[in-house]
Amino acid sequence: MHEMSLVQGLIDQLVALAAEHDKQRILTVTVDIGPLSGVAIDSFQFAFDILSKENDLTSGASLTIINSPATYRCVQCGYEESASVRPDQCSKCQENLLIPEGGDAITLNQVELE
Ligand SMILES: [Zn+2]
Repeated sequence: MHEMSLVQGLIDQLVALAAEHDKQRILTVTVDIGPLSGVAIDSFQFAFDILSKENDLTSGASLTIINSPATYRCVQCGYEESASVRPDQCSKCQENLLIPEGGDAITLNQVELE
């Protein structure tokens, strides 16, 4: 489960952030996980629940996961649409070949510290 190492990286990032701002606790964390990042949201949440308890800073922090849609561009007519699941075809011209743009990143969106 590679989500474990991703979450560990996130927690390291949070610990560094708290130290930088001289804070003792992380209250809420919002992470944007793109639909093409290959991350299983459930596993990510599960890993966070386990790993966050191992650190005083993150223990009790609540995690919110946003799943921003990716953009799919039609190679035929250039029409772009946002979707969290790859559309079967272009909704303008029914072309089947759509190129995804973005949606493959994991971004630390917002952190609330105390
Ligand atoms: Zn099209």
